[in-house]
Amino acid sequence: MTQMTRRALLAGSAALAASPALASAPIVDTQAPGFYRYKVGDYELTQLSDGAATFPMPDNFVTNVSEDRAIAEAARLYLAPRGEVTVPFNPVLINTGNKLILIDTGYGPNVSPFVGHLPASLAAAGMSPEQIDTVIISHIHPDHTNGLHTKEGALAFPNAEILMPEKDWAFWMSAENAAKADDPVSKAYFANARKTLTDLVDHVGTYGWDKEVAPGVMSIATPGHTPGHTSFAVASGKDRIFVQSDVTNIPAFFLRHPDWHVMYDHDPELAQRTRHRFYDMAAVEKALVVGYHFPFPSLGHVEKNNTGYRLVPANWSTTV
Ligand SMILES: [Zn+2]
Repeated sequence: MTQMTRRALLAGSAALAASPALASAPIVDTQAPGFYRYKVGDYELTQLSDGAATFPMPDNFVTNVSEDRAIAEAARLYLAPRGEVTVPFNPVLINTGNKLILIDTGYGPNVSPFVGHLPASLAAAGMSPEQIDTVIISHIHPDHTNGLHTKEGALAFPNAEILMPEKDWAFWMSAENAAKADDPVSKAYFANARKTLTDLVDHVGTYGWDKEVAPGVMSIATPGHTPGHTSFAVASGKDRIFVQSDVTNIPAFFLRHPDWHVMYDHDPELAQRTRHRFYDMAAVEKALVVGYHFPFPSLGHVEKNNTGYRLVPANWSTTV
């Protein structure tokens, strides 16, 4: 980098001050699309931002600690000084050289201006939805599946095979299970699945656990968040990373405090056991972990500490 002397800096700022064209610019007030590329062996992966939602923290956001404690922790971590919480949504695209595989699809259009940006991020990364060969859904929740459709209701990835975890597909598409749901969160999930996925019944394929779902992409059982919630190991050459999906919601809370239960977990006790098992594995392997709800570009390593785990975010690299 060029060394700048104080004199040169002062001369530069004097020049700027003398040039009204450079000194003024309209306030832009919009954010750029988000994508970030990196390599895993021969594969090129791209993190794609669907956006991030900031909302007042619901009373029972953490179901097994008091609201006061959750709000105090959020303030301590600079998450929610106004009692709000921010949840990012970051699908990942895998280019094997022969195939383009997308894991999860974001919230889709029509929800809020904060989300539904996956198509813009994909375009900014230089790719079109028509190029995607395979869409793998990690679990059937709206922030992962609703991007399967466009605003007009057409298939957002018209040439892609769509793969769902078989346990989630059986569970969430069952009218009998939907009728038994008694809490508002589950009811909303059943209603969304029926509304947005019924037209895909003849189009969807399903996958089990411990299977190579796509080239180099192994499915890992991580149930609890949903009955069929799935994480993935992506391997090429000597490299292997984990795509955790929603083993945690926001890591500042639930990776740091793995025994805290987020309101969206279907079976919170099982989700808690899954978190320990998954992060113990990731910490021992020192593998890069991709987290759908991690801060963008949603990559980091996980370390074990006394009370839980610590996320060490990956550095932004200007080379792929
Ligand atoms: Zn999610």
